[in-house]
Amino acid sequence: MFDYVIVGAGSAGCILANKLSENPSNQVCLLESGPEDSSPLIRIPMGVASLMKSKKYNWLFESTASPYQNNRQIFCPRGKGIGGSSSVNAMLYVRGNAWDYDYWAELGNDGWSYNEVLPYFKAYENQERGEDKYHGVGGGLNVADGRSNHPFAKIFIDAAQQAGHIINYDFNGEKQDGVGFFQATQKNGERCSSANAFLHPIRQRPNLTVITGAHATHILLEGNIATGVEYISNKKTFRVIAKKEVILSGGAFNSPQLLLLSGIGPVDELNRHKIPVKHELEGVGQNLQEHVDIHIVTKTYGPPAVSIRPKGLLQQSKELIRYIRERKGQMTSCVTESGGFIKSTPHQSVPDLQLQFIAGAVDDHGRNIRMLLKYGYTTMVSLLRPKSRGSITLKSNNPLDNPEIQLNLLAEQEDVDSLLAGIKLARDVLAQPAFDPLRREEILPGNHVQSNDALVKYLREKSEHNYHPVGTCKMGNDEMSVVNSRLKVHGINNLRVADASIMPSLIGGNTNAPTIMIGAKAADMILADNNTE
Ligand SMILES: Cc1cc2nc3c(=O)[nH]c(=O)nc-3n(C[C@H](O)[C@H](O)[C@H](O)COP(=O)(O)OP(=O)(O)OC[C@H]3O[C@@H](n4cnc5c(N)ncnc54)[C@H](O)[C@@H]3O)c2cc1C
Repeated sequence: MFDYVIVGAGSAGCILANKLSENPSNQVCLLESGPEDSSPLIRIPMGVASLMKSKKYNWLFESTASPYQNNRQIFCPRGKGIGGSSSVNAMLYVRGNAWDYDYWAELGNDGWSYNEVLPYFKAYENQERGEDKYHGVGGGLNVADGRSNHPFAKIFIDAAQQAGHIINYDFNGEKQDGVGFFQATQKNGERCSSANAFLHPIRQRPNLTVITGAHATHILLEGNIATGVEYISNKKTFRVIAKKEVILSGGAFNSPQLLLLSGIGPVDELNRHKIPVKHELEGVGQNLQEHVDIHIVTKTYGPPAVSIRPKGLLQQSKELIRYIRERKGQMTSCVTESGGFIKSTPHQSVPDLQLQFIAGAVDDHGRNIRMLLKYGYTTMVSLLRPKSRGSITLKSNNPLDNPEIQLNLLAEQEDVDSLLAGIKLARDVLAQPAFDPLRREEILPGNHVQSNDALVKYLREKSEHNYHPVGTCKMGNDEMSVVNSRLKVHGINNLRVADASIMPSLIGGNTNAPTIMIGAKAADMILADNNTE
């Protein structure tokens, strides 16, 4: 019997487990479907490339055929195991724009304005550059400047400056606009996942029980009160009872799936799978938002471009030795070391595009081996606040089936237009003199692809996404919201959702740090509401 049961040990789940178990009289259980995070591939930053294909640490989801992307199934990697997606992500430390949180508050979500969430970002950060108005020191999440310093990353910044973009030394400071180096959630050249930051340091607390290999199958309900969770482990079924609250932190794909499996969701969807309706809640699984993105790949002459050609591999082995000796160099790379936030048109009030630059030729999430055999560099353009909306539904009522993911990217013409503008802006950067010594022909989309029609065709053929699904259990008070601003599921007592799924709108940046902030804020609200601080 526990006070609190948390489902999912990812970005949000780890900090929740930490904060809820701080008071020794609270008994906390953390259930995680995947394994421990003991692999060196998780620790060494460049291991991210292998984790993209790992059956052990990655759910390797595929979307359903995406109608506006030539009916392609889109690969949706998600972390599985302790640390969740923070154990497999690219480690970029980005909070989004202050505007995003003020917008959440404007939508009626009290307590979520930028000024109200900033203290959480600061409190859980250890900023290696030191403390200031926007940054904190002494928190668990270590934020570091890059140790790879790939020469191409600097060339990208120089070229962007030549194209007229301003330099920004801190995307999480006063302003987000401009180009520069990304900071990374790393410590001493190793990944600092949410687990490293918040779970491992307190794992021995006697009042905290962490169960791995435990796949939650449904929430136990007595009337409209959540009383625990049923899970499967090694083909056997178990139950854990929560005297106070159940908290879902399974991420934007799995938290709505678990609600649906438990009979909480749109009636039609529950009926379709013969799941008894426990509580009708139209918004569960709806409002899926994701950063749609497109790559421009340019050919170059040879190393130091990262590749798997013999010379490239030789370079990588030298880099591995350097890493073992110094914890520096390309093995510490967060893949996209530089980039920035720009506006697709001057009338945007905040940047609506993110650029990320990779010192290698990358296609299909790095899984296209033929592309990695070339010497090249890649510029990713992501649309930060797409209008298109997708959904999460069920493939079946079998809890071990993957959820059905309909991304619906590029459904809205406005998204197509903004990304089109983004390609042109990125090409302008790539055409600047700083790239003259490196530049050969464009591999993707190719120099011959110039007209708007041809570029739109390319967008539909090749666009992917930036691994930031949110919104499927959105916070709010309208009929499509799933949780209120204290993250309590509407109509059900003792049940909250706290993970990326609660974001009512996608923030303009990467989503790990914002999700950790959500977990931390959720914990404070849970403790306050239960008088158990
Ligand atoms: C490849 C990749 C690269 C990324 N790069 C970056 C980046 O550079 N910077 C950045 O800020 N963000 C990045 N992100 C996004 C960021 O990591 C996620 O937004 C964030 O980790 C989401 O946190 P979460 O707590 O919502 O879910 P997750 O961290 O995904 O955690 C959910 C956990 O719940 C578990 N779970 C799910 N269902 C069940 C169940 N039924 N029972 C038990 N356990 C369950 C999962 O196994 C998982 O461990 C990336 C993501 C990916 C996948």
